[in-house]
Amino acid sequence: MAKKSKINFSSKKQNKGQRFNPKKMALTIVAFLVIVFMGVKVVGATTSYLADKKEEKIAMQQAAEAERIAAEKKRKEAEEAKKRIIGVNHEAKKNSYDAVEISKKLKNYDYSNNGEKVVFLTFDDGSSTTVTPKILDALKAGGVNATFFVTGQNIERGGDTARDLIKRSFSEGNAIANHSYSHDYKYLYPNRHLNLENFTSDFKKTDEILKDILGPYFSTRVIRCPGGHMSWKGMEGLDKYLDENNMASIDWNALNSDAEGRKKNADELLAQAKKTSEGKEMVVILMHDTYGKEQTAKALPQIIQYFKDSGYAFKTLA
Ligand SMILES: [Zn+2]
Repeated sequence: MAKKSKINFSSKKQNKGQRFNPKKMALTIVAFLVIVFMGVKVVGATTSYLADKKEEKIAMQQAAEAERIAAEKKRKEAEEAKKRIIGVNHEAKKNSYDAVEISKKLKNYDYSNNGEKVVFLTFDDGSSTTVTPKILDALKAGGVNATFFVTGQNIERGGDTARDLIKRSFSEGNAIANHSYSHDYKYLYPNRHLNLENFTSDFKKTDEILKDILGPYFSTRVIRCPGGHMSWKGMEGLDKYLDENNMASIDWNALNSDAEGRKKNADELLAQAKKTSEGKEMVVILMHDTYGKEQTAKALPQIIQYFKDSGYAFKTLA
């Protein structure tokens, strides 16, 4: 029994050994490889799925970050915009008109204002240490404001006194506008033709002076061309420049004639102001607060009174 079983056992073993033939072995290896291959595929797919998920997460984080940066930029811009001062101080803003609109009206000889009379008192060529203080006093006494078209050259000439006058004028609610640095016709308009490069660099000099006096947030978008926009040739380049920069060139439709013809006394200046503004609902009146214009300062209280009595509201250009 024991022997038989031994034989049986050995024969069984032999039979078993026969199953490991090369064919089966190859099949097993192929099967194994297939399984390994499939496994690699599954692992690969899983890895790429996870990588996709990770990428998606990173993209979402990046989008959120970009959104945060954009919001922060917008907030900062809004903050900066609030600090920005254009022409007049923040409280006086309500008393100012959009200079671009007024500029267009003047160019079209449209002096209407929806049935409401409005006057813009404007003073050119200051600041002067002699006349400007008197003008400011008269405006303050009358409780009205004006627009000052200043030149950088005269501010420099007046030194600290002129600089203080700009500060005072601005704090009292007047608009500060740019009338060039040099006021030099030959430089700005050689042969009566605009030189845009000279013109813009000359005006920029005054811009810088005003920033130096009123702070870096101050700027004005209102200019008056020395001699008037109407007086020169080749102004198309300037108009394009002003358009692109949302700026306005303001001429006038009335004047006290304090720079025309022979020197006039205060009564004559008042008469000129009345005569030239007659019948106009919207009046932009040209006057000067530079050296030698004492009669203008003298006439101003009466000119203010005249416009008040005639039902005009006093506004500034900014
Ligand atoms: Zn001038």
